Amino acid sequence: MLSIEDLRLAIDADAGLVRAIDGMRLTISRGETFALVGESGCGKSMTALALMRLLPDGTRIESGSVRLDETDLLALPEARMRDVRGGRIGMIFQEPSTSLNPVMKVGAQIVEAIEAHTPLRGRAARAKAIEWLRRVGIPEPERRIDDYPFRMSGGQKQRVMIAMTLAAEPDYLIADEPTTALDVTIQAQILDLLRELQRERRLGLLLITHDLAVVSGMAQQVALMYAGQIVEVAPAADFFAAPRHPYARLLLQALPDTARRGQPLAAIAGTVPPLWTEFVGCRFAPRCDRAMVHCAGTLPELEEVAPGHPVRCLLYSDPREALPADVVDVR
Ligand code: SF4
Ligand code: MG
Repeated sequence: MLSIEDLRLAIDADAGLVRAIDGMRLTISRGETFALVGESGCGKSMTALALMRLLPDGTRIESGSVRLDETDLLALPEARMRDVRGGRIGMIFQEPSTSLNPVMKVGAQIVEAIEAHTPLRGRAARAKAIEWLRRVGIPEPERRIDDYPFRMSGGQKQRVMIAMTLAAEPDYLIADEPTTALDVTIQAQILDLLRELQRERRLGLLLITHDLAVVSGMAQQVALMYAGQIVEVAPAADFFAAPRHPYARLLLQALPDTARRGQPLAAIAGTVPPLWTEFVGCRFAPRCDRAMVHCAGTLPELEEVAPGHPVRCLLYSDPREALPADVVDVR
């Protein structure tokens, strides 16, 4: 299992202390797709970088752990972490150009990954690379293996990046907005490919996206983030059928569904607060349609509302307990 426990990350920035991640927790099992969802800037990509231990300079780990099975990844020597990166945990990004080398033939890049992380060498590695190109749906792989990335379309480059990442035979794959840069038809094809490969290789897949429509039909577990915090984690079926957090409810209402086609989307009023805010109470309170009088001053904890279904919202804890003495209960 790949897991994060109580992770708290802070970055010293000009604007002040940025609480990039606060009390993050998630567990990804092999053979399962775990979706991490939230608006941009809420800490999803930082979570991915924490799992790979690729945090930007100046990031302080204030508490928490990142584990791969029994190994504490935050304590691992860098040389061993390099084997984990790629070999145990692969990562693909929104922009294939961030991981594909523009001046190196795509085949050579896949061969490099194979030779770094598997026993195959030379011609055997090249044959394996061709097999991977075919597997991810690149036509005429024997010929295309000697192309440079610029000869390929955006969708093909994304396929090559998936081939290169999976050729290292990782157990876990982190896919950070893997289809955001692609047009809708290609998006669906790449998601299908990821789903097939996830099943075939029994990958633990962490799918990071701002798009809830991408998640349904792909994920077994969903975690929703807001302003650096997890606000709800649930089996996907429960999440879509009966979301508990007000933010989750508003997001799902905003999803276009066939029954409401043609009607305007329900937009969520307001914007995500910047992460250098000195948060006191619930971070979602300014946008919440269920906010209560004590929400702005009381920090909600992540609490189980059902087995395996934690939610960070005062609606589910006894609000009277949280009421300061000088606040009148208006309920
Ligand atoms: Fe809304 Fe209050 Fe729950 Fe925050 S704690 S999500 S403001 S009801
Ligand atoms: Mg991101």
